[in-house]
Amino acid sequence: MSELGSVADEVVRCRACPRLVEWRERVAREKVARFADQEYWGRPVPGFGDPAARILILGLAPAAHGANRTGRIFTGDRSGDFLFGSLHRCGLADQPTSLSRDDGLKLRGVYVTAVNRCAPPGNRPTPQERDRCLPFLEREIAALEALRAIVALGAFAWDGALRALAALGHVARPKPRFGHGSEATVGPYAMLGAFHPSQQNTFTGKLIPPMLDDVLARATALAG
Ligand code: SF4
Repeated sequence: MSELGSVADEVVRCRACPRLVEWRERVAREKVARFADQEYWGRPVPGFGDPAARILILGLAPAAHGANRTGRIFTGDRSGDFLFGSLHRCGLADQPTSLSRDDGLKLRGVYVTAVNRCAPPGNRPTPQERDRCLPFLEREIAALEALRAIVALGAFAWDGALRALAALGHVARPKPRFGHGSEATVGPYAMLGAFHPSQQNTFTGKLIPPMLDDVLARATALAG
């Protein structure tokens, strides 16, 4: 099995964070009315995409009724619609939507993952939960041999990426600051920041499609 496959295999079996295990499984049992007839994934969600990726897209964690339901990161919710719409416009995904694990979606040169692999209450993992999960991200970054650019969606992902890179020996000093459109070079990687495509950001117009398209186009240029 490839290293990415091994990581994914370990991720889906992980029960290291008692609070998150309880939450992700409770959400999967109780569900939400509009998905009451569906079987939720209810487990940690592995990364997904092209093993030859030159660009890594990094989110915070699975959404309770999105990836925690479908089992694929950024799949089955509005944040995913926004992200994959942008990836498709930029030629990095073969479909503009991400609906389920078996929808046939293929990414070109992109791998999508998250700092934490279990849906957290209030979208807020604790620092201990973040640190417990980070080795999975470190291993994914190390396994993606063609990787050149990391797009962090939100400040939590930006910070998580810097921590993972530091653990791999790539320490950025002074610590680069997150912002939409911010850029930094950390070791062999270009880091780019973008506002997270959460409904809080997209419904209020803080993040509109051309803004994410621009960051992805820039990441594509930097990744070669
Ligand atoms: S958040 Fe990460 S470390 Fe914690 S239980 Fe989920 S997969 Fe395991």
